[in-house]
Amino acid sequence: MGKVEIKEVYMNYHSLKSSTSALNNISFSVNDSEFLSIVGPSGCGKSTILNIIVGLLKPSSGEVYIDSELINGVSPKIGYMFQRDHLFEWLTVWDNIMLGLKIQHKLDIEKKDRIINLLKDYSLWDFKDHYPNELSGGMRQRVALIRTLALNPEVLLLDEPFSALDYQTRLNVSDDIYKILKKENKTVIMVTHDLSEAISMSDRILVLSNRPAKIKKELNINFELDSVSPLKRREAPEFRGYFNELWKELNS
Ligand code: ADP
Ligand code: MG
Repeated sequence: MGKVEIKEVYMNYHSLKSSTSALNNISFSVNDSEFLSIVGPSGCGKSTILNIIVGLLKPSSGEVYIDSELINGVSPKIGYMFQRDHLFEWLTVWDNIMLGLKIQHKLDIEKKDRIINLLKDYSLWDFKDHYPNELSGGMRQRVALIRTLALNPEVLLLDEPFSALDYQTRLNVSDDIYKILKKENKTVIMVTHDLSEAISMSDRILVLSNRPAKIKKELNINFELDSVSPLKRREAPEFRGYFNELWKELNS
C-alpha cells in the first residue's frame, strides 16, 4: 500500500490582477516503497505538486489517486515534512511528537509503544524530555520525522527537507533519514534542488522544466551495490554519470 498516481494535473494560481500557470500537464506514478525525487529550477512548481498531492491545494484540473482512491482533501495516508522542522520550542521532544496524535484523538497504547520504539531505535529516547533548542539540527530533523511517522502515513512527502542544515550535517542527516524511511518501508516523494542529494537517495528522479512545470526527463537510478547508503552511493562509480546527465538536462 502506498501507490500514488498523478494524472494530467494543471495548476493556475489566480489573483485579482493576474493568473500564474504553475503546472502544465503533470502525470507520473510512484510505486509502493519507491523513493522518487523531483528536481527542477527554483519557482518551477515543485512545492505546488506536493501541496496538491497532500490535498492542501486543489488542482485546476487533473486528479491524484492514492492506492487507486481519488484524493479529495487532506488524506491521512500522507505525511509531510518541510524544510524547517516546525517543532514547537515550548514543548518537549515527547510532547511535540504526541501533539498530532492528540489533536486527531488517535493516541492509544499501541501508538505510544510505536513512538517509544521509534525514539529508541533512532537514538532519541534519552532526549525525550529535552526542548528543541537543546538539540542539534540533525536531531531536530529526526524528531520531525518521527512526529510524522507517528501518524503512520503510507506516503511521505519531503519538501527540501535538509536545505536548512549545513553541508556536513546535511550529509549525515540525509543518510539517517534514508535508513529510517527504508526500514519503515515508506513510499517517498522528495523535492530538492540538490542533484547529489537526489542521486544519493532515489530509485527514480523526475526533472522538471521552468515554470509552468512539465516533466522533461525521467531517470532510473541503479547502483551495482544495491543496499548501499546515500553516503556510500556518493562515492560509487555510477554517481558522476548520473550527475552529468541531470546537470545537462537542467541546463539545456
Ligand atoms: P518551487 O517549489 O519549485 O520553488 P512553487 O511550487 O512554490 O515552486 O511555486 C511555483 C510558482 O507558483 C512560483 O512562480 C510561485 O510564485 C507561484 N505560486 C506559488 N504559490 C502561489 C500562490 N499561493 N499564489 C500565487 N502564486 C503562487
Ligand atoms: Mg518549493
